[in-house]
Amino acid sequence: MAEVDTARFLADLHALRRIGAFRTGVHRPTYSPQDMESRRWLMARMEEVGLAPEMDGLGNVLGRHPGPGRKLLVGSHIETQNEAGWLDGALGVVAGLALARAGLAVDVAAFADEEGHYGNMLGSRSMTGALPAEELAAARHAVTGRPLAEALAEAGLAGRPLLRLDPARYRGFLELHIEQGTQLESAGMRSGVVTGIVGARVFRITAIGQQDHTGGTTMAERKDAVVAAMRVLALIDERFPMHVGPRTVWTCGRIAIEPNQPHIIAGRAEMIFQFRDIDEAVLDRLSALLARIVQEVGRRDRCTLALEEASRSPAAPADPALHAALRAAAERHAPGAWMAMPSGAIHDAQVLARVMPMAMLFTPSIGGISHHWSEDTKEEDLALALRILADAAEQALRE
Ligand SMILES: [Zn+2]
Repeated sequence: MAEVDTARFLADLHALRRIGAFRTGVHRPTYSPQDMESRRWLMARMEEVGLAPEMDGLGNVLGRHPGPGRKLLVGSHIETQNEAGWLDGALGVVAGLALARAGLAVDVAAFADEEGHYGNMLGSRSMTGALPAEELAAARHAVTGRPLAEALAEAGLAGRPLLRLDPARYRGFLELHIEQGTQLESAGMRSGVVTGIVGARVFRITAIGQQDHTGGTTMAERKDAVVAAMRVLALIDERFPMHVGPRTVWTCGRIAIEPNQPHIIAGRAEMIFQFRDIDEAVLDRLSALLARIVQEVGRRDRCTLALEEASRSPAAPADPALHAALRAAAERHAPGAWMAMPSGAIHDAQVLARVMPMAMLFTPSIGGISHHWSEDTKEEDLALALRILADAAEQALRE
């Protein structure tokens, strides 16, 4: 069995943690000086473990194994959310280094901007050929609106070619990541073998009523867009539970009311509503149910309701063979202390799954906290995850 150096793995994680350190976490937003320093740090570590590193025009870092034969691709991202945790992303990249150091035939990748400072999974989509040139050219910072091209130029990346992965080179992609939830911790488990990444559907639901005076307009006359919007949400909460899977989640995170004044009956209400599940059949069922609810409310509240699917990301099931290798390895290294579970969060692995077999492994997140500087995982659980990952990788490479 491949001998992984867990002490060196933890030391590397702590070294990366010092770049952009913020309290016990890190602040390395994409293309910041700290982010670029971490990418150069990574390339130096890749060379040390015998990989040939390259950084492309988006800051993607790929370390290629020089040997013959099919490889596993192992990785994640190394930029962070603002003032965020030390493990989100970094864990999967540094685990790849440890596997290469142990002599396994792996390439290691750090995909740029998974955290979405400038777009939606720009790095992994670019490397898998799923990023249209127009989208790349138009990309801007999500908050400041600064053009991506400007940030790339300042980071010294302008004019560099973009790397493209060759799926035929790989047996598949493995990503080790923190759970960013409480499922493992509350079940008393030390490791989670991911069954797949949930699909998400996002809808814009608009109710158009009649803007009017709150005193002068009788109840019988009203076409109140807020009432219609609230009724849609109430019916969703009443009826969805009969049609969902065990881990379906649904959220209305934004309601915009016009004119949003205390003494005016609203003429317009717009909601952004989303649901997620691992099973596309469940997502289809909920899409149909949502359409029925919207239609019913339109009739009942005399408002014009419009339902528009704003975006969707398909569910990405784990590759059965890679998943089985992780399960077997988890049972060898942590008998009875691991469980299978879906990933409710989006990861680079979801993008990679469109071009090659994919599997993921989770470590517990203490208190479920992530996207915050206090994010943490017990070091013995980090070391355990590395041993499971290495064991599964070795098995997958033998097949
Ligand atoms: Zn992440």
